[in-house]
Amino acid sequence: MKPTETDRRDFLQQSVVGAAAAGLTIASTSHATAQPVADAAEPEITNDVDVLVVGGGTAGHVAAIQAGRAGAKTLIVERNSQLGGTTTTGGVAFPGLFDAWGKQVIAGIGWELVKESVELDGGKFPDFAKVPQRHWHNQVYTNQFLYAILAEEKCAEAGVEIAYYEFPQAVRKTEAGWEVDCVGFGTKRRVRCKQIIDCTGGAEVVGMLGLPRLREDERQPGSFLFMLGKAHTPGREQIHRLYVHGADSTNSRTATEANLTGRRTILAKVRKEKKRLMHLQPETGFRETYRIVGETLVTVNDYTSGRVFEDAISHAFYPVDLHTKTGVRPKPLKRGKVPTIPLRALIPKGSRNLIVAGRSVSSDRLANSGLRVQASCMGMGQAAGVAATLAAKAGSTPLDVPLADIRARLREHGQIIPGKA
Ligand SMILES: Cc1cc2nc3c(=O)[nH]c(=O)nc-3n(C[C@H](O)[C@H](O)[C@H](O)COP(=O)(O)OP(=O)(O)OC[C@H]3O[C@@H](n4cnc5c(N)ncnc54)[C@H](O)[C@@H]3O)c2cc1C
Repeated sequence: MKPTETDRRDFLQQSVVGAAAAGLTIASTSHATAQPVADAAEPEITNDVDVLVVGGGTAGHVAAIQAGRAGAKTLIVERNSQLGGTTTTGGVAFPGLFDAWGKQVIAGIGWELVKESVELDGGKFPDFAKVPQRHWHNQVYTNQFLYAILAEEKCAEAGVEIAYYEFPQAVRKTEAGWEVDCVGFGTKRRVRCKQIIDCTGGAEVVGMLGLPRLREDERQPGSFLFMLGKAHTPGREQIHRLYVHGADSTNSRTATEANLTGRRTILAKVRKEKKRLMHLQPETGFRETYRIVGETLVTVNDYTSGRVFEDAISHAFYPVDLHTKTGVRPKPLKRGKVPTIPLRALIPKGSRNLIVAGRSVSSDRLANSGLRVQASCMGMGQAAGVAATLAAKAGSTPLDVPLADIRARLREHGQIIPGKA
């Protein structure tokens, strides 16, 4: 049947109403223009850098910014689409602990970023001069979105190149260091570098090289963070946590399973509680995975006694914090005790030109449950950034760099060094 004049008029009216309604769904439009990418059409590229950081999470972006600021040509390869890892993509945007027993013990680049994010967000800082009743009172509530963008800005300022959606496929030793083949969609990248900093959270490069790693049969649950019923504002108390037991970040298949389980369970909750889903992180946050076997291993006794290692490069501070099927009973540290992190716990045993930072630090399980928190990971990242840079410049390996030089450079970049060293 041919459309009549009335049909045409109704159609036009509906189109106008439809367009106006569609317009209402977008509050405003602003514009930005992406710069052309050199060799964008070229599927295979090569980078020559001093330092390659694999994984741009809590430890990784700090390591990269530090390496860049210390003068190393630095590339960061991150398989996700933003920096910050568990802090941002995992949504654990309440980093801690930067203070212990009434004073700040971890500062440097991680603190600089947290502080700027909170200031830009009009947020609040805990009073580090006061010893809180509960340890988590002194975590810093941070805006995860701002944090991720500020981290990119600081990478750009430090001259650090970022490669998102990429991960290493093969790692080979060379005379000058390493040749690493990375892959992303539409990109094959060969990286020639002098030093690698493995900040994957699970020591994935260490695993690819066949170096030993530790992992428990049963790991702490991962957590999917979400919000039902009301909007999420930066902060810990407002967000819900779904424990995903058995969550395993070993590979894409196990991580997929954790994400599917998490989302399916949250959907069931939405249906049951009849509340709107207002916030959902894009992936599960994984608490525990592989740890390296380092040149030394931090034990829970080292941790709880506040042992000051002779090669300590950063503090750490948090209760022993093991999550299980029945929840978590944090075991606070005794008054005055502040654990430290030795450089040798970042060096995979017997390796050269390779250093690790973050939760895969060489440690036993209970020590790791405290060492894994964000301020400590940031401290490790900064130390790894300095050690790798100085090693690249000297043509040596991180363990051969004089400790005094590492510490002096860390102090220059605002970090607090344990003990009297
Ligand atoms: C649910 C939960 C709650 C927590 N609560 C707190 C808390 O209250 N306060 C606190 O301070 N800490 C807390 N933690 C601990 C802390 O957040 C993490 O231990 C810490 O962020 C780990 O940092 P990381 O740099 O080692 O790893 P991540 O931050 O996870 O970074 C690893 C990065 O590497 C990338 N990556 C991995 N593999 C590859 C690869 N092959 N190639 C390229 N990129 C790769 C990942 O995408 C990620 O960006 C919590 C952790 C979880 C999961």
